[in-house]
Formats: sequence, C-alpha cells, structure tokens
Amino acid sequence: MTGKRTLFVTRPSLPPLADVMPMIEKIWASRILTNSGPYHAEFINGLKSYLGIEHISLVTNATVGLMLSVRQLGLTGEVITTPFSFVATGHALLWGGVRPVFVDINPKTLNIDASKIEAAITPRTTGIMAVHCYGRTCDVEAIEDIASRHKLRVIYDAAHAFGVQHKGQSVLKYGNLSVLSFHATKVFNTLEGGAIICPDKETKEQIDRLVNYGIVDEQTIETIGFNAKMSELTAALGIVQLRHIDNYIEQRRLVDARYRELLANATGIRFVHPSGMAPSNYYSFPILVGPEHGRTRDQLYQALRDNDIYARRYFFPLISDLPMYKRLPTEPVRELQHATEVADRILCLPMYADLSAAEQERIAAVIRGL
Ligand SMILES: *Cc1c(COP(=O)(O)O)cnc(C)c1O
Repeated sequence: MTGKRTLFVTRPSLPPLADVMPMIEKIWASRILTNSGPYHAEFINGLKSYLGIEHISLVTNATVGLMLSVRQLGLTGEVITTPFSFVATGHALLWGGVRPVFVDINPKTLNIDASKIEAAITPRTTGIMAVHCYGRTCDVEAIEDIASRHKLRVIYDAAHAFGVQHKGQSVLKYGNLSVLSFHATKVFNTLEGGAIICPDKETKEQIDRLVNYGIVDEQTIETIGFNAKMSELTAALGIVQLRHIDNYIEQRRLVDARYRELLANATGIRFVHPSGMAPSNYYSFPILVGPEHGRTRDQLYQALRDNDIYARRYFFPLISDLPMYKRLPTEPVRELQHATEVADRILCLPMYADLSAAEQERIAAVIRGL
C-alpha cells in the first residue's frame, strides 16, 4: 500500500512539461515576453474555436476582468447580484464604486433567482452581475428579458463555466460581457489568467485598451486603463492546455459518475446537481448535508479533515455577510433565506481529473460514517 495522499478540493491539471518547454525556449530566444505577442494571439484563436465565440480579450485574472467589465459598461449606483459566490464577484463591484444589492438564489440551481430580481430594481440600478454557479447556467432568458425591459447591463461571472453550452451554443454569448477565470483551481487553468468575452469587435477593442493603461497609440491615451495584460508564458501554457482540456473534462465526468454511485442513498446527503443535470465541464461536486445526516455540515467537514480530506464550504460565508458588505449603509435587509440555508449545508468534495477511484472510496467511507 502506498501512503495516503492528502486530498484537497482541487488539484490543478497540467500538461507534460516537455510540451511547454519548446515554447518557453522560443519566448526566451525572441525576447517577446508580453504586450500581445504571437502566443497571445494564438491562444485567443484557440479559445475562439474551442469555445465557439468571436471576440475575446485575455486578462491576468477574472477578478480584474470583472472590474474592467464594470468600468466598460459604465455601471454606477446599484448592481443586482448573488450573495452565493466567491468574494471576487462582490469585490469587483465595490472596486468600481458600485453598491451590490443581493438577491436570493434559486434553491435548485443555486444561481440568482431571476424571479426576484425585479423587486430589487430601484432608480439607481444600472446592471445585473450574475454567476453561473459551479458551471450551472443561469436563467439567461429571464435575465435578458428583465435587463432589456429595465435597460440594465448584464455581466456574467463565468469563472466556473469554461466550455459550458446553453441551448446548443456557448453560454458565454449571453449578457453584455462574460468573464472566465483560468485560475489554478478552475477546470481550465493557466496558473493565473482569465478572459473577457465581448459581443462585438468594437467592445473588444475598448476592453483591450482598458487592459493596457487606456493606450490607443503612442500619443493617445483615452481612458484610465489598468494593467491586466497576459504574458506570453501564460498564453503559451494556455495553448498547450487547450490540447488536453477535453481529456481533463472526460476524467472529471468519470469522477462525477463514481461519486454518484458511491454516495447513492447516503443518509442526509443530497447532490446539488441531480443525475443528468451536472454542468458539462464537471467543475465541482457539491453536496448538501441535510438534518437527517446526523452530523452538521461543519461536523462532516471536520471529520473529513481529520482524515486528510480538505473539502471546502463553497460558498460560506455569504458575500453579504462579510464585514465590508454587511456595513453597506442603506440597503434594506433582504430575505436571503435560500442562500443562507444553502451556505450552511453546502460542501464541495474533492473534484479533479486525476482523483482515483480508491481515493473517492476513502472520501465516501468518511461521509457514510464507516
Ligand atoms: C475563482 C473565481 C473568481 C476569481 O477568479 P480569479 O481568476 O482567481 O481572479 C471570480 N468569481 C468566481 C465565481 C470564482 O469562482
């Protein structure tokens, strides 16, 4: 028997180093390190064809991508968003000087409940920032409809939604802008990185300027842009990762299927995504720990830790419960009943391409209390 590996919620997929080395050597030889070099262009083309989208800007990470999106769309006042997400979703709004207004989630999809958005709209509302949580698509039609009737702009935080389709096309085509994360913990990773998906060429060019200090040409600087440029090294890794992504996702699919077998009928454990409803990139394997389980979510979380299994409580606490959001001056207390309940019961199990069957059995045994 080999020693037991500590299991984290994720373990980044990486290609063979030998596949990347020739590209690194080229970068070293050419001295083209950043500022839209040849690998940057090649990575964009690869993403366009893999994702089936036309206009894409690369950025250093999704958080900055969201911040730049808020600026690009000129959002001010209030933006309606979900409390059940990674903190970057809210932070991007606060950095943009916008007040997040939190709306409850749909307890089935864990995405923002589109039927509750309209009640939260005020004369100050300028946009909606929704998240395709764990890669499950938002109710994009309903959100689109509300946005067009109230003249609101829509940003999708698509950090979890790499490669996810909706009605036969990329879900990244919805909304005014969508933002991908290529962080190490995501399905597709470039260590750090991200992308902004734009509806047209003109928007992409404006985003590209925001990514590069607002520079138009040597003498013209149009806006207060940021520095969010992706380096050639990162882009080269992205190109190689694209050759392997289908394989990574297929391995995740098998991990997902094994969990469903191993945990079928486990007392008080419910799968967030019923069979056949898992997002097609298998980003995560979230479960809900119900009262019948006998242990609270936190007790189960601790029992797993005691066995060197680091499941994560994504997303707990809710963004709306963090100090910088709780103290927001005037927002009336909103009912976040489902979000609060889910945040207390959610647990994301280790999910990654090379999680072995034996390791999954080890995890399932602790959950079943064996
Ligand atoms: C990971 C994540 C982000 C931030 O992505 P970075 O690339 O790490 O900045 C934003 N939103 C959600 C929902 C995420 O999971």
